[in-house]
Amino acid sequence: MNIAVIGAGPIGCYAASLLAKHGHQVSVYENHAQIGLPIQCTGLLTSDFDQFKLPMESFLVNTFENVEVYSPHQKLEVKQKEYLVCRNKFDNFFGNLAKKEGVTVYLNHSFLRKEGNELIIKDSIQNVEKRITPDIVIASDGPLSPTAKAYGLYHPQRENYYGIQAIVEGHFDPASFKTYFGEKVCPELFAWIVPESSTIARVGLAMRKNSRAYFDKFMAEHGFTVKEMQAGTIPVYHPAQQLQKENCYLLGDAAGFVKATTLGGLVPGLRQAEIVVDCISNHKNYQQEVQPLAKKLKLHLLVRRILDKFSDRDWDTLVSYINQPKVQKVFEKYTRDNPIPLVMMALIKEPRFLRFGKYLV
Ligand SMILES: Cc1cc2nc3c(=O)[nH]c(=O)nc-3n(C[C@H](O)[C@H](O)[C@H](O)COP(=O)(O)OP(=O)(O)OC[C@H]3O[C@@H](n4cnc5c(N)ncnc54)[C@H](O)[C@@H]3O)c2cc1C
Repeated sequence: MNIAVIGAGPIGCYAASLLAKHGHQVSVYENHAQIGLPIQCTGLLTSDFDQFKLPMESFLVNTFENVEVYSPHQKLEVKQKEYLVCRNKFDNFFGNLAKKEGVTVYLNHSFLRKEGNELIIKDSIQNVEKRITPDIVIASDGPLSPTAKAYGLYHPQRENYYGIQAIVEGHFDPASFKTYFGEKVCPELFAWIVPESSTIARVGLAMRKNSRAYFDKFMAEHGFTVKEMQAGTIPVYHPAQQLQKENCYLLGDAAGFVKATTLGGLVPGLRQAEIVVDCISNHKNYQQEVQPLAKKLKLHLLVRRILDKFSDRDWDTLVSYINQPKVQKVFEKYTRDNPIPLVMMALIKEPRFLRFGKYLV
């Protein structure tokens, strides 16, 4: 089949490479002049990334052994293996993977609109509009997905966060990254300090609104020297988001396949890419096949809704609860991609935490 992938992010390029491997004729259209730039991501991957069995040497920056969690008055350290990647190199790894499989990547090509069966693509080098009529369209054009909107697929109640991050200089322990929770630091998520090395770190936070004010306050409190600023939109998973209409399949941030607890979209997006390719190649129902992954994202959303109502006191209680050795063990067994132990242990099994159940209503 003739397949057009809109957006050369890592998820679109991964899907393109797998589709070409299955014998499809695939073209990727990317509005920027280069793959991987500008960078709008911290680049943290849980060790669930190992499931893809991909070589990491070309993009791996650091590997963490621990995550430090700070609530207003408590601190805990959880053993957790996570990877830090260079998003420019990471995106180019997937771009090259696609090219090696015979995918044609058109840079400086923006999807503009849909007219009947035709997609109108603007080639900004030649300054012309091109018309294409692919059999299948993959919308992997990010959180605001113009393609999803053109197909009438973008759910009107979808929510986005706005993430702000700085590359800073300082002194850091490269073996662990830090997360800060609480009403005063970042009431709608958490702030992070993620070291690339002992002297450079990625520092940021994300909120639905007012990110900048909280970010400036966090930076001032820590007195960092800024080398570079990055920012971007991050979608939150919406359970009612339809994923397919006519010949168009939504994928990655365009589908809102992001964990609502951490706003990590890379691991779920890559897994979703494998599912969409299987569905297209083997004539399976996408909405149905994606359900196991969607269920996990729904659970992240449920946890998010509870955490959104946390007071500083709740954060302190939760952190001291998790600090117990028996609970720590559970956390070490699972990664952040799987919030089931958090939900089960903290909110259901442990009687003291039944009080958080009130936040579900
Ligand atoms: C500040 C911040 C920090 C983050 N940190 C993490 C993290 O640590 N870990 C993690 O897992 N996730 C993180 N995320 C989320 C992660 O970046 C996304 O989930 C991921 O980039 C999704 O990949 P994608 O390929 O679906 O979309 P994108 O990477 O957004 O790629 C979409 C591509 O489509 C292109 N495009 C857009 N419109 C058009 C058009 N009209 N025509 C053609 N091309 C178009 C864009 O230029 C882009 O190249 C973070 C996000 C932000 C903003």
